[in-house]
Amino acid sequence: MAEPIFRRLALLGIGLIGSSVARIARYRGDIAGEVVANARTQSTLDRVAELGIADRVELDPARAVAGADGVMLCSPVGSFAALAETIAPHLQPGAVLTDVGSTKVSVIRDVGPLVPPGVHFVPAHPLAGTEFSGPDAGFCELFENRCCLLTPLPGTDEDAVERVAELWRRCGATVELMEPAHHDRVLAIVSHLPHLIAFTICGTADDLEGESRQQVLRFAATGFRDFTRIAASDPVMWRDVFLNNREALLEMLARFTEDAQAMARAVRWGDAAYIEDKVERGRKIRRGLIELKQA
Ligand code: NAP
Repeated sequence: MAEPIFRRLALLGIGLIGSSVARIARYRGDIAGEVVANARTQSTLDRVAELGIADRVELDPARAVAGADGVMLCSPVGSFAALAETIAPHLQPGAVLTDVGSTKVSVIRDVGPLVPPGVHFVPAHPLAGTEFSGPDAGFCELFENRCCLLTPLPGTDEDAVERVAELWRRCGATVELMEPAHHDRVLAIVSHLPHLIAFTICGTADDLEGESRQQVLRFAATGFRDFTRIAASDPVMWRDVFLNNREALLEMLARFTEDAQAMARAVRWGDAAYIEDKVERGRKIRRGLIELKQA
């Protein structure tokens, strides 16, 4: 077995993503010699202890990171600034600080200035998830055949970047480097806007008057049902994603709104060719995903 990448890895936040990393670390043995889990509430840590997926649990983030050579922020992105401020004085020189946040420009803005000299900051985002949250939701296969995007700033210690990349490879993901602002624009269209649409369409259906609302639920065919799966995601996590990728999300929403208006016009004027062309493009994208084994 290869040497563990980190002697001690502290996971700050141990929900879907953090507990999946913890489970993989436990199962493989070559990611961390020791895993320390931190959460906001004692009840989550009690559950983590019951599940036996960490070597140690710590309610105090400062104690959780003490002596760790790897620290991963796995809580909602809106909590990163306060967490970074709390842990900064306790990070050991040479430690690698990374995260799994769904936005990257805001994370670099919030965490970057608080990173002490000698600590290496490597922002990351594994493109994997489900609509479930909490420590029971994690599983070992979550990152398999998924991509993890790293967005280190120029000049970041190469060995630190490589250790984070290797962690994600050992979790089953492929790793790519990306510029942070580009990351946020890409994620706005492939993830954040679809979630915004799902939350909105469920709200619209829920606003319908009594009888038709019941019919929506009774006759929900795959279209609406698929939206409800996405809309079941954690409210705090998504609130933070929307607020921390505001510009890119609003830009993609404006483009989408224009395209939706164009579709509405085609429907109004009976432009069958336009409608068919859009549906055909949708099918092509779906076929492409299936070929890439990402569907
Ligand atoms: P989750 O299942 O809801 O778990 C969140 C964890 O963070 C919990 O352990 C929670 O502790 C802790 N936490 C919440 N608020 C906190 C605060 N203010 N300060 C400190 N800790 C706090 O979340 P998740 O789905 O794993 O997402 C975690 C991160 O991964 C987010 O930044 C998200 O953007 C990113 N991400 C998510 C997905 C996805 O699909 N879910 C995919 C890729 C990346 P308690 O249980 O004690 O409240």
